[in-house]
Amino acid sequence: MKVSEIFTTIQGEGILTGVPSLFLRVSGCNLRCTWCDTPYTSWQPEGEEMALEALVQRVEAEPGYRHIVLTGGEPMLFAETVELTRRLRDLGRHITIETAGTVWQPVDCDLMSVSPKLRNSTPWDREGGRYAAGHERLRYRPEVLRRLLTNFDYQVKFVVSDPGDLEEVQKIASEIGAIPERILLMPEGISADRLHERAGWLVEVCKQYGYRFCPRLHVLIYGNRRGV
Ligand code: SF4
Repeated sequence: MKVSEIFTTIQGEGILTGVPSLFLRVSGCNLRCTWCDTPYTSWQPEGEEMALEALVQRVEAEPGYRHIVLTGGEPMLFAETVELTRRLRDLGRHITIETAGTVWQPVDCDLMSVSPKLRNSTPWDREGGRYAAGHERLRYRPEVLRRLLTNFDYQVKFVVSDPGDLEEVQKIASEIGAIPERILLMPEGISADRLHERAGWLVEVCKQYGYRFCPRLHVLIYGNRRGV
């Protein structure tokens, strides 16, 4: 599979925030979010082809990192992901998969971290809108999300741009059967200023609905940089 980057850092988002982790970021995505923070895996996918064995060896070379995060792009797009997760499980690693939840694969996974994409993600404003209809058709697959939530321990992360997004969040949460304690709201933004600006009202929303507020710790610590 095509791999964009492999790096060690702390988990910056979700219920495992702060946990030292090794990230495997695959390249290639079936969506084109307008605010995608890793366009080098979606809009212009970059990376090098790596064999499964080489990926496993890379993980084995970091014995101090029990937590492995498969991210992208969309790792669930690739058939090799199934075998990769089986091999990582054999090594005794904890596996988090970061996915938009549009594709099912029979993977091994300890935490399915799904991030369904809201209407605010649709790229009407980019490249003449040529990806918008396809993105809109694919971005929300409730039957896939229900299957993922039923089969794995999970968290559901929503990227929220403004208070108007909440109605859609509630509708999706209800349709897929996610419990409030496992729903995390993240402010949209790739700068500390933007995240801070949105955090104020988003915390109030979380208090009102019983959702978790999810900072983006890696952005606050490192800024919008690759490989951290
Ligand atoms: S699903 Fe993720 S990787 Fe794909 S375009 Fe959206 S934000 Fe980017």
